[in-house]
Amino acid sequence: MTIKNTKYIFVTGGVVSGLGKGITAASVGLILKSTGYSVDIIKFDPYLNVDPGTMSPIEHGEVYILEDGSETDLDLGHYERFLDINLTSNSSVTAGKIYSSILEMERAGLFLGKNVQLIPNVTNYIKECFVRCNEAVDVRIIEIGGSAGDMEGEIFLEAIRQFRREKRGDVLHIHLGYVPFLACSQEYKTKPFQNSLRELLRSGLQPNVLVARYEKQPNADIEIEQLGKIALFGNIAPEYVLPVPDLKSIYEVPNHLIKVGAVPLLAEFMKSDIYPVLPAFFLQDGVNQTTGKSVKVGVVGKYGSKLGDADYSVMQSLAIAGFYAGCEVIPEIILADDLVDPMSQTWDRLKSCDAVMVLGGFGRRGMEGKIKAIEYARTTKKPFLGICLGLQLAVVEFARSVCGMDAMSAEMLEEGEPANPSTSKVIDYMLGQSEYTPKGGTMRLGGYQCELSDGSIVRELYKVSSVIERHRHRLEVQNQYVDILASHGMQVTGKHYYEGKTGPKYLSEMIELDRRLHPFFVATQSHPEVLSRPTKAHPLFLGLVTEALAKIIAH
Ligand code: GLN
Repeated sequence: MTIKNTKYIFVTGGVVSGLGKGITAASVGLILKSTGYSVDIIKFDPYLNVDPGTMSPIEHGEVYILEDGSETDLDLGHYERFLDINLTSNSSVTAGKIYSSILEMERAGLFLGKNVQLIPNVTNYIKECFVRCNEAVDVRIIEIGGSAGDMEGEIFLEAIRQFRREKRGDVLHIHLGYVPFLACSQEYKTKPFQNSLRELLRSGLQPNVLVARYEKQPNADIEIEQLGKIALFGNIAPEYVLPVPDLKSIYEVPNHLIKVGAVPLLAEFMKSDIYPVLPAFFLQDGVNQTTGKSVKVGVVGKYGSKLGDADYSVMQSLAIAGFYAGCEVIPEIILADDLVDPMSQTWDRLKSCDAVMVLGGFGRRGMEGKIKAIEYARTTKKPFLGICLGLQLAVVEFARSVCGMDAMSAEMLEEGEPANPSTSKVIDYMLGQSEYTPKGGTMRLGGYQCELSDGSIVRELYKVSSVIERHRHRLEVQNQYVDILASHGMQVTGKHYYEGKTGPKYLSEMIELDRRLHPFFVATQSHPEVLSRPTKAHPLFLGLVTEALAKIIAH
């Protein structure tokens, strides 16, 4: 199916943030993609950080890495998973990135002595980002972070206003608003949504479709009357208001949007019929429990946030692996620091798990607890998957406990503290990296090729001999210790080969224990969690869940 011009769908939100603009944008994209259109998607964040790479995962959620090494917001993960596409840095734009580029151009004299202003210079730059291509596509979806009325978001709304004027029929604007339920009067209140619409109208923006986000109550649901009110204040006909309650799973959203009438609205915009054929995963809301079993996976991380936003892609990867293994996966989120005390009750939670994961992280905090969790998984033979720092600490733990070495990672030292000369730094900074390297886009980032050893567990899981995984790290396994580790049963089974200054070299990408020592002890320097897709579980996550499930079924 080809269409002449790219069509643009803007998604904004109002009243509060966290309404699921990203999920809505990705769901609309999926409906169009599954009809046969090519779709891509861009997220604009109005904050001044140049990228989310330096923001705390506890406050902002995980940093999601793209193939080209861009450090982005977790919404990019929704986009890649829902649409099964690989995005580039063009899909992640912050106000910080825009302003720093414009200021660089100003310093380079590119404005030829003219004033540099919000309008037209910044708005023009934003509009260029709207059309700048990943590839030519039929539909580009553009999500604007924050809420209508935020001062820092105004310039983006102005850019949309101008863009819409220029592109006329090729722009659709979807606006989400929250409709709170007042318990004392037992009713839904539309006034905050009305106010956010007023805010948009004041900026010269008339949305075409409104999404009313609300919490369904045991005895109450949003009524036609309230939707009518929203339509009235939004200046549109009632069928252009789509009610979307909180759903059990984000993967229900595309199908829900179809059920509440999104298809005719999108067909009208595309000027063509829409026949979405959603993948089975979305039609089943991400649930497939054919074995009737559940697998509990201890997820040992530094952040341990209740919602799991700090490790969002790991949570999604486990759920997707469960779908393909035919079981429910229950993640048991464990704060690594809570494992330091051997008497802490957190140990009971870890011990109740069928498999253990140790996640990535930066800095000393949490390392000791992670090492204890690794030792526990190794000695009890519970299926284990280590990610990034999880690999590095698995090497440290093995070198200490099994090879009898006084081993450490350079990251364990206090800033400026010298290492004990008799200590083996089995993990150290890569060439050109150190704890003093400036922050922001300076780590080893993005996709790198990895060759898998014949006969290894990872080779069996991936079913191919060479894979590309994404990375975000500064330290690596020191290869002079690889033979000692191997002689005790820890093998490097994934390698990235490259040309070093003094000849060919490799970076240890994957390690595993000899199957005679442990049935499934695997770790990777990469972040496989960003490559799980609802249409295809990631082999390492699927391997972990399948192994744990097989043990449960055998008992
Ligand atoms: N801190 C370690 C490094 O920089 C691990 C990074 C990670 O887990 N993402 O290499």
